[in-house]
Amino acid sequence: MMGKTDGFLLYKRREDGMRAVEERIKDFKEIHAEQSHEERCRQAARCMNCGVPFCQSGMKLHGMFTGCPLHNLIPEWNDEIYRENNEHALKRLLKTNPFPEFTGRVCPALCEKACLNGMEGDPVTIRDNERFLIEYGYEKGLLEPVIPSIRSQKRVGIIGGGPAGLAAAHRLNQRGHTVVVYERDDEIGGLLMYGIPNMKLDKSIIKRRRKKMEAEGIIFHTGVCIGKDITLEELRNQYDALILACGAKQERIPNVEGIMETAGIIKAVDYLKQTTKALPGLPEINAKGKQVVVLGGGDTGNDCVGTCIRQGCTSVIQIEMMPKPPTERTADNPWPEWPKTLKTDYGQQEAIHVFQKDPRIFSHTITALIQKDGILQALEIAEVHFEKGKQIISEKREQIDCDLLIIAAGFIGCETQLPLSLGITCTQRNTVSTAEGYYMTSIDGIFTAGDMHRGQSLVVWAIQEGLMCAKEVDEWLMGYTNLI
Ligand SMILES: Cc1cc2nc3c(=O)[nH]c(=O)nc-3n(C[C@H](O)[C@H](O)[C@H](O)COP(=O)(O)OP(=O)(O)OC[C@H]3O[C@@H](n4cnc5c(N)ncnc54)[C@H](O)[C@@H]3O)c2cc1C
Ligand code: SF4
Repeated sequence: MMGKTDGFLLYKRREDGMRAVEERIKDFKEIHAEQSHEERCRQAARCMNCGVPFCQSGMKLHGMFTGCPLHNLIPEWNDEIYRENNEHALKRLLKTNPFPEFTGRVCPALCEKACLNGMEGDPVTIRDNERFLIEYGYEKGLLEPVIPSIRSQKRVGIIGGGPAGLAAAHRLNQRGHTVVVYERDDEIGGLLMYGIPNMKLDKSIIKRRRKKMEAEGIIFHTGVCIGKDITLEELRNQYDALILACGAKQERIPNVEGIMETAGIIKAVDYLKQTTKALPGLPEINAKGKQVVVLGGGDTGNDCVGTCIRQGCTSVIQIEMMPKPPTERTADNPWPEWPKTLKTDYGQQEAIHVFQKDPRIFSHTITALIQKDGILQALEIAEVHFEKGKQIISEKREQIDCDLLIIAAGFIGCETQLPLSLGITCTQRNTVSTAEGYYMTSIDGIFTAGDMHRGQSLVVWAIQEGLMCAKEVDEWLMGYTNLI
């Protein structure tokens, strides 16, 4: 049934939005703002309950995914929110998504890009509605631990406590298997914890989830590095099945002479992790009083820009190799495809507010470092363009002052030493191999999921992979599965 038949005509899209820039750059608290109850119902009423809901389709079009990979039952819970049946709406949300508090904060909302309302106008505020529902659930005490009544006597070990490992742990534990998660960091969450900054996802949200999962019976061993503290072989002998969910955190380092030896250069994830760990203080390497350059115009680069501004940098520039995308969809990139358009994210908006200009320099790359006594002073940059996929760098060079360079130039796969230690086959892209659409590695009983399997991706994909992997593990352990 459609909630309100003319909601999409009557009401304009109104996002929850963010706290005002001048206020939010003073702290590392979450940027998300709140919405009134009445407005929430109106936003949900904008959903047309489409016969073919592209929002929940999660399909590949022209090589890029669009729609929700978890196939969240979006029109159903939008309708329930409009009717103020939030408790039931939450149940429908939790049917497909075990962690809406993560996706409701950090997902780029593939669902909204595919929403039919977005074909001519503005999509439904699906992600905001999702975050509202899960927070409503916690506030009203609707998320009490669900302890499985029967245990299977099967034991599953999961290596990596990021969203992929956590999603698999959740599903397998609910099914009744005994689940132990090994995480080498001091906290679970993977890049949710020590990649994505606090202003997007406060770390108390991850700790809240951990408490619930522990109460449900999942055992977490943090500060344990598999391959170092315990070998994979040893672990294999202790469990009926293992899942490798170690992420794909190997950063791409540009080929510039001296880049790893010069002081004043740091990799993005190291920078963001140190920042989170040092809060409310400053880490040893920080942006205070510095002229910062972030190499890489993507989401990680944007998080670094927002972090530098909060640490009090004197300037920030973001260098991006690719040309500036169009502001509107082009004719060959129609709805419901993923829009290849310019996105000015929160960090860039903050830089524009503070320094009155967009921090991004498109179609450029770094060609040399200028240093004194091993300390970075400036960068030499040049224009770059592509011909038949080949990078052409202009002869003309420019110099920009820089005393902190943050490398956010993408990722080149997982650390393959661990799977290779047992002879597990890896791909040339440094991911762990499986048959297409499956999660079992080349060794029986050892599975893989998340970035380690598909390459650096998104939280929503890590969750989807964790759930699908859990289903395969369950079938392997029991000879059948009822998991979805
Ligand atoms: C800075 C940054 C910002 C991002 N922002 C977003 C965003 O806004 N939205 C979004 O959707 N995606 C974002 N992503 C991508 C997203 O975080 C990842 O795709 C996702 O976290 C992958 O989940 P995962 O569980 O596969 O791996 P990870 O999150 O990387 O977790 C893997 C875990 O395995 C642990 N581990 C590794 N090796 C071992 C070992 N040998 N023993 C024990 N533990 C081990 C690691 O410590 C880590 O905790 C961002 C990524 C980065 C780097
Ligand atoms: S595509 Fe948009 S309007 Fe249609 S069901 Fe999904 S959220 Fe509602």
